[in-house]
Amino acid sequence: MKIEVLKLSDEKGRFLLRETSSAFVNAIRRSAMAEVPKMAVDYINVYDNTSSLYDEILASRIGLIPLTADLNSFRLPEECECGGEGCLSCQVSLTLTAEGPKMVYSGDLFSMDPSIQPSFPDIPIVKLADGQRVMIEAVARLGKGKKHAKWQPAVACAYKNMPKITIKDCDRCGRCIDECPKQLLSLNKELKVKDLMECSLCGLCEKACALGAIEVGVEEDAFIFVVESDGSMPVVDLMIRSAEELEKKVLELKEDLESIQKDAGVAEIGQRRRT
Ligand code: SF4
Ligand code: SF4
Ligand SMILES: [Zn+2]
Repeated sequence: MKIEVLKLSDEKGRFLLRETSSAFVNAIRRSAMAEVPKMAVDYINVYDNTSSLYDEILASRIGLIPLTADLNSFRLPEECECGGEGCLSCQVSLTLTAEGPKMVYSGDLFSMDPSIQPSFPDIPIVKLADGQRVMIEAVARLGKGKKHAKWQPAVACAYKNMPKITIKDCDRCGRCIDECPKQLLSLNKELKVKDLMECSLCGLCEKACALGAIEVGVEEDAFIFVVESDGSMPVVDLMIRSAEELEKKVLELKEDLESIQKDAGVAEIGQRRRT
């Protein structure tokens, strides 16, 4: 597989993947959305809440605040030596104490671990009227997107085949130009596509051409892959971890198959496949 970086920042990435298949690109996408661990508030202890929001709504809002974290310093609760009870290796407390009148923001959360902070300090949590109070302990733990959306580090992750537009025997009537919703077609000496990657493959230009001079297709083994992080980790880290999680699964499968082969022998594996 060949990768070409089209656009890359901490928040967004756009890549052109060549010499691969849609199954593999989709596996990377699913891994980024569902398998990459991320830190998020799992539950809250409410000591005081006289705001207009129920405790459950506060918990939901705080849970969805993306948190930055040094992921190598923490373990998933289910893989921790404490057995998921909660210890310094698998969870961190953040406290929130505020009194109105004021708007309480994500930046008002105070973390016991400096590496764990809200990715954005200006996410509104609750508006407190005069005299209203909140006093909360929020417990953050690592988790995966397949369990809950709050642990999903990729807010957008999608791909499409690389468009391929063929123009042949065009009489330059220009009819197709107005049909393109993205205004990608231009006519000077000949009909041209300005930015092929922006083509949505809607096929309207093809339909507009009475001569069949324009044909919209795709490159079967090339994909434009777009990913956006929620701010909990840079896009590059997200993609690397997505590949690592996929690699882990493949290695687990390999180990399982090797152990079956060792226990039962190759002949018996053949038997199992037939039954
Ligand atoms: S397929 Fe749609 S988006 Fe692409 S060039 Fe034709 S009209 Fe424009
Ligand atoms: S592709 Fe078809 S519709 Fe478009 S300019 Fe050529 S002949 Fe006209
Ligand atoms: Zn633990």
